[in-house]
Amino acid sequence: MVSKEEKPKLIRDDGLRHDGRRPDELRPIKMQVGVLKNANGSALVEYGKTRVLAAVYGPREPQPKHISLPYRAILRCRYHMAPFSTHERKSPAPTRREIELSKVIREALEPIVISEMFPRASIDIYIEVLNADGGTRTTSITAASLALADAGIPVRDLVTGVAVGKVDGVIVLDIDEVEDMYGEADMPVAAAPSLGKITLLQLNGVLTPGEFEEALDLAMRGIQEIYKIQREVLKTKYLKVKVEE
Ligand code: ADP
Repeated sequence: MVSKEEKPKLIRDDGLRHDGRRPDELRPIKMQVGVLKNANGSALVEYGKTRVLAAVYGPREPQPKHISLPYRAILRCRYHMAPFSTHERKSPAPTRREIELSKVIREALEPIVISEMFPRASIDIYIEVLNADGGTRTTSITAASLALADAGIPVRDLVTGVAVGKVDGVIVLDIDEVEDMYGEADMPVAAAPSLGKITLLQLNGVLTPGEFEEALDLAMRGIQEIYKIQREVLKTKYLKVKVEE
């Protein structure tokens, strides 16, 4: 992490951000699906230097069996930051933050999974943050929803996440760790764009009602851009498979 003494100017004199982005600009986004052989579905997603791997197993018989439900599959999610993912080594044991984020991410994905198709089964999502530079929960949601689709699990839509924030008084898209740390507010958002559903909305800091609307609007525009990339990545893999057959 950057030390508190070195607060950088978050909005430069030319109106650009500390890393040279415009306020409404995403970091470079990269995505790949089917990156793990042994998982039923997987995805590797990068928002700038934030890099997240998601693996999906299932539908399968849950362990322990008694947690199963007779009318739908249960969704389980484990978010974990690798010990090498941060500047200072993070303890590999699950922290309170990771337990909370596992729940928040699961709840952001639940509305898209057609779980009624698999009674008594479990669908397990494992998320490993390989490199953290802000926005790991939103990158995780984007990666996990791709991994679910890659596993062939019936979904109503994809879910896409992005965090917006207020830095030096300006509402900005896709904040990184420095902006998250020194900014006035950060607001992670996730949505299923075709369903028109917001599945995650958190706010840390203070925004006026007008700033909140501006931030949400900016987040939804970012989500549309990322959603397009997600769909393309899935389509590309599907078309490739067809050609090889
Ligand atoms: P998010 O990653 O979803 O933005 P937070 O707001 O909690 O979640 O974290 C912001 C950023 O702070 C993370 O992306 C990461 O870069 C950094 N961070 C979080 N937890 C730790 C930690 N235990 N050690 C070092 N850096 C961390």
